[in-house]
Amino acid sequence: MKFSLLIDGMLCDGASTLDVINPATGKVLAVAPRADKAQLDQAIAAARRAFPAWAAKSYAERRGYLEKLADAVEARSDEFARLLTQEQGKPRAEAEMEIMGIVHCIHYFAQSELPVKVLSETEEERVTEHRTPLGIVAAITPWNFPIVLMAAKIAPALITGNVVIGKPAPSTPLTTLLLGEVAAQILPAGVLQTIVDENDLGAVLSAHPDIANVNFTGSTATGKKILASAADTLKRFTLELGGNDVAILLDDVDIAEVAPRIFASAMGNAGQVCLATKRVYVPEAMYDEVCDALAKLARETVVGDGLEQGTQMGPIQNSQQFEKVKGYLDIARQDGTIIAGGSAIEGDGYFIEPTIVRDIAADSRLVREEQFGPVLPVLPYKDIDDVIDAANSTEYGLGGSVWSSDRARATQVALKIDSGIVWVNRHLVLPYDVPFGGAKQSGIGRQHGLDSLHEVTQLKVISEALA
Ligand code: NAD
Repeated sequence: MKFSLLIDGMLCDGASTLDVINPATGKVLAVAPRADKAQLDQAIAAARRAFPAWAAKSYAERRGYLEKLADAVEARSDEFARLLTQEQGKPRAEAEMEIMGIVHCIHYFAQSELPVKVLSETEEERVTEHRTPLGIVAAITPWNFPIVLMAAKIAPALITGNVVIGKPAPSTPLTTLLLGEVAAQILPAGVLQTIVDENDLGAVLSAHPDIANVNFTGSTATGKKILASAADTLKRFTLELGGNDVAILLDDVDIAEVAPRIFASAMGNAGQVCLATKRVYVPEAMYDEVCDALAKLARETVVGDGLEQGTQMGPIQNSQQFEKVKGYLDIARQDGTIIAGGSAIEGDGYFIEPTIVRDIAADSRLVREEQFGPVLPVLPYKDIDDVIDAANSTEYGLGGSVWSSDRARATQVALKIDSGIVWVNRHLVLPYDVPFGGAKQSGIGRQHGLDSLHEVTQLKVISEALA
């Protein structure tokens, strides 16, 4: 498989190369082109040249390009899904969902628009609100959902008249490069470009004076660096960062019904989901039964290469995160009782058994930090107010869920959780028309919905005197 950067309408080699590892085998899957600073500068110059003509097109014209892009991705969806499983590790069915997710995402935003709003119209004046594109958007993504997160940045930016430089995480660049290859046949030169780095060009992009907006998803630590480097040019930015979401069970839940859904919310994508359930709180009287139900589900989960039929959970995406999750297994052993899983799986891939941990101290690092892997702490509670305090005691505030047969009661608890989204009796439902994003240190700004168009546009008022 040959992969290329897309710079100024040309598919080209990088200044050097980067080995991309298949996390299911630990072996090199492909060699990706790696850009240097000079190639990034070329891309920025091309984007500057492309911006005026793209911004001047009507929504209807840009819509035509985006619809074609969505159709072209769909036509190659099998290839995209297989590549996604190989570079990221997720089971084939989850990869297919992610790829159809980008097709829907591009179609959805292709149909979106920010029309001119009339704020005042009298005999004396006409005041209108316009949303104009910012310019060059840097779309920087992590390795857990490499392509759907990229599409959710590219599509709103392009439809509103911005141009985009996409920079994926170094361990999962391939699906973004394939998207660039598809876009090269459809979009004018410089409108969408792809750059691969080895964690060295993100900082250059976020400090660059010609970049108008940094649309970033990744860790809170990197988000803080971007915030600092954006200060110099007062750059606009959207930061979608880490989380430590709770799932709170109230005392009237049907355990048999809820346990599999809580388990799925924690273990999907091997726990590498920003909005995954990362700690579960259970009423004392139900604690043993819930722990046992979750442990049984963990033991029954088929872990393996995502390309193999029947695999339910793939590997951890990269060796660095694999070591980090193994560290959380050590913490689990020290601070709690492991009742299912507890080990890395022997072999060359980065596999961790789905792990359930009970009787763990509330101040354990496994409870306080974002584990980003399939190691789930389950904690008992007596008083719901204590759980709400515990839920809010972290610097994060991304998501969370409350589970009860009394929806109104659950909603009252949900309203007290300080985060960007709280689900009631469900988890991880993220349609493109519903904005999501973090409270506190889980982020600034919103993705999805009209909010994501606002993030990449400037509000401009034209105030006309008529008399
Ligand atoms: P990361 O912060 O290490 O890297 C993310 C991206 O930032 C990569 O492309 C990386 O190359 C780039 N980068 C690194 N240094 C940079 C710098 N100084 N300036 C600009 N860019 C830089 O994150 P990760 O480990 O790849 O991803 C995991 C994290 O992402 C978790 O914390 C997870 O919760 C979070 N995440 C959040 C959401 C959300 O929507 N809130 C979604 C998915 C993942």
